[in-house]
Amino acid sequence: MLSRPRSTVARIARVFTTLALGIAVATTSSVTAFAQNVPVVRDAEIEALVRDYARPIFKAAGLANDGIDIVLVNDSSFNAFVTGRRLFINTGALMTAETPNEIIGVIAHEAGHIAGGHQQKLRDQLERAKTMAIIATLLGAGAIVAGATTNSRGLAGAGMGVAAGGGEMAQRSILAYQRTEETTADRSAITYLNATGQSGMGMLKTFARFQSALSLSGTQVDPYRISHPMPQERIANLEVLVKQSPNVDKVDPPALQQRHDMMRVKIAVYMEGQATAARLMQKMRGSLAALYGDAQSTYLYGDITSALAKANALIKAQPKNPYFQELRGDILMKANKPKDAAEAYAKAVSLDPARSGLLPVSLGQALMAVGTPDSLKKAVVQINNGLGRDKENSEGYRYLAQAYGELGDIPGAELATAEGHFYSGDYKDAKIFAMRAQQQMKRGEPRWIRAQDIINYKASSKI
Ligand SMILES: [Zn+2]
Repeated sequence: MLSRPRSTVARIARVFTTLALGIAVATTSSVTAFAQNVPVVRDAEIEALVRDYARPIFKAAGLANDGIDIVLVNDSSFNAFVTGRRLFINTGALMTAETPNEIIGVIAHEAGHIAGGHQQKLRDQLERAKTMAIIATLLGAGAIVAGATTNSRGLAGAGMGVAAGGGEMAQRSILAYQRTEETTADRSAITYLNATGQSGMGMLKTFARFQSALSLSGTQVDPYRISHPMPQERIANLEVLVKQSPNVDKVDPPALQQRHDMMRVKIAVYMEGQATAARLMQKMRGSLAALYGDAQSTYLYGDITSALAKANALIKAQPKNPYFQELRGDILMKANKPKDAAEAYAKAVSLDPARSGLLPVSLGQALMAVGTPDSLKKAVVQINNGLGRDKENSEGYRYLAQAYGELGDIPGAELATAEGHFYSGDYKDAKIFAMRAQQQMKRGEPRWIRAQDIINYKASSKI
């Protein structure tokens, strides 16, 4: 009865479970393929980490430092881009960087572009646009650059027509910085890194790699390299600045490096498959990150009892790590123990300093799977709690709609479906469901008003 929003967003650790529950139309054998076809991945741990990288830099740059949204673009090329409050970063960039400092340096450079007012007009347009529309444009541009068209149909779906509107303009002009702007951004980046007591070596290493001839030989062209001109002279000037800094030899704090390693292992396991993950874990042999990867890999591909034992060992090593609890919850869901999973997710929610909206939604899903009327009501509370923290989680609305449906609240289910379409940028379907919801609501009640907002929404945010 309820049509499912076409979800183009996957939670990184949820892909498998979602398939196992039969919610997504795909077979379990295509986990990796499925993961590779979604343009955006959501993950509480990675989003929190990248936000922690960005926060001090944004503060030093005098930019809004509260509520930065991290958008993880599922693409193995290197790219990073900041609109006003959203930081888009490719999983490929995170995988390439061996240290936090390499990513922090790139974020500092991007902050330099913002502070310098470079591409301000385009940036303002992007800031008004929905995340998924920007993704479609960015990936579309990248795909064209790389001459790869295999993903274009899927991405056209993700763009929901918005990219087809003014998108071409954005594709032509997006991120095409001038050389003088690059110099300015490099200088600003060094200022921010100095202000936060960090080295510029990571930035230098990253940019020097783009500059080297090696990067030309690959089949994949990094969009970042296309948009940021990197002549030899620029790298040479940057090197002087970096080496003049008193922080040149500073390294990332060990705890931050550990989080970075755990992030890379996670991306490898969930997005890049067993072989890549195994190679990375081999390099990190004996570390907590390697054990984390092993537990995740066992959860995805191995024995579930063994996976649970490995997750428990991780929790013993770091009892306050919310993401180890989250993994334990994921494993218990797969083991069809939703009540125990709900307990693990509840711990994850209470331990999470970043207050991610994703974890309450996972808790809600576990409570839905418990299936009693009482747990369904609790599920609705948790999912709404998660969506309150994170309105653009279109997948969350799908679960909310399902929970309302199972409770017999049909207008609630239809409004949640409308929200899911709305935040995916699919305004036509959003309006259809909002109107259907309204027919069964009292005129003027809060939910009716929200439905009316969706109906009245003018898609003026074209890019
Ligand atoms: Zn640049």
